[in-house]
Amino acid sequence: MKTVYLDNNATTSVSQEVREAMMLYLTDIWGNASSVFYSVGQAAEDALARMRMSVAKELGAANANEIYFTASGCEADNWAIKGAAFANKRKGNHIITTKIEHHAVLGACEFLERNGFEVTYLDVDKDGFVTPEQVEAAIKDNTILISVMTANNEIGTIMPIKEIAAVAKRHKVIMHTDAVQAIGHMPINIVELGVDMLSVSAHKFHGPKGVGLLYIRNGTRIDNLIHGGGQERGKRAATENLAGIAGLAKALEIAVANLDKNTAHMKRMRDRLIEGLMGSIDYVKLNGPTDQRRLCNNVNISYEFIEGESILMRLNMAGICASSGSACASGSLDPSHVLMAIGVPHEIAHGSIRFSVGEDTTDEEVDYVLEQMPKIVTLLRSMSPMYEEFEEGRLPSQTKR
Ligand SMILES: *Cc1c(COP(=O)(O)O)cnc(C)c1O
Repeated sequence: MKTVYLDNNATTSVSQEVREAMMLYLTDIWGNASSVFYSVGQAAEDALARMRMSVAKELGAANANEIYFTASGCEADNWAIKGAAFANKRKGNHIITTKIEHHAVLGACEFLERNGFEVTYLDVDKDGFVTPEQVEAAIKDNTILISVMTANNEIGTIMPIKEIAAVAKRHKVIMHTDAVQAIGHMPINIVELGVDMLSVSAHKFHGPKGVGLLYIRNGTRIDNLIHGGGQERGKRAATENLAGIAGLAKALEIAVANLDKNTAHMKRMRDRLIEGLMGSIDYVKLNGPTDQRRLCNNVNISYEFIEGESILMRLNMAGICASSGSACASGSLDPSHVLMAIGVPHEIAHGSIRFSVGEDTTDEEVDYVLEQMPKIVTLLRSMSPMYEEFEEGRLPSQTKR
């Protein structure tokens, strides 16, 4: 049976060009980029400098030395938040973020709360948005950091980051954004966005897992998260993951070069899925924005009266890979914090499925999902006590037919 992979917000396949770009650094160029007194190390150092320049250019950073490679998106988020909090604690102890951030951001904020910091978690509207006005109203004299994600991984909300960064700048507060889901899905130019820090992870755009970066604008006060040697301008110890960084740089180059073509295709696949599923299945709710402010590849729909996990199992039997929320949240019985924050009732949130398409998703794959999903939902509802109660008129529906 063919596998239909529609979980690209969780991770993506490593493309062949990326694999090939990495291979050189697993074979011929294997030196330590910090061992610059001999040629083996120098070759690694030269390569690293080239990659840093390439990445800075593709992201629209002003200087290559503002790019700090990390071991993941989670590390970049943790570093940005804990590092800025501790470095600026003499100035204040208040941080502003949103209720729909990735767990890397929320977990770092909760850690800081246990260590003397105060965090405001902004409410979002029914589509997942916070407004620049909301952020401005939350700023206090002791506010030192604002962290708002560029695009949400569960429901695809694209936040007004440029406007929020302008507010932060006006109030001289450091601004961080988790742009992990944005890369390859929308144009990103750091200087235009006006943020002080920005997180990226390679495996979300066909790079390898275990490598990411944090952009830190020169002049931003931030403490180290990883202490040790003097790598990454003394800010992040650890011998550089040259092959991983080569993969990140190549994947980014390809993502940026093909952005217009890829996003147009993904939008078409996304919209075919949304229209097809909403049109053929009753008692459903689309989660997230319905306009241009939705990530080009994200489909998140709640199916009333049934469980997301049961849908996933049936989808898997049909060879279709999807997600019932974020990868981090699945496995726990709590409904997604993102769906809770946008006001989806508990019972409905439990029956939510996220399909995230890629540039390689085909019309045939979409057709197949549109053929399978109504069958799966009908079957599961036929076994659902909740659906039986609903049909007997003892339970109201919370969605539209
Ligand atoms: C995947 C993801 C991360 C974490 O990146 P890792 O490299 O997997 O640690 C952080 N933020 C968002 C929005 C993500 O989607």
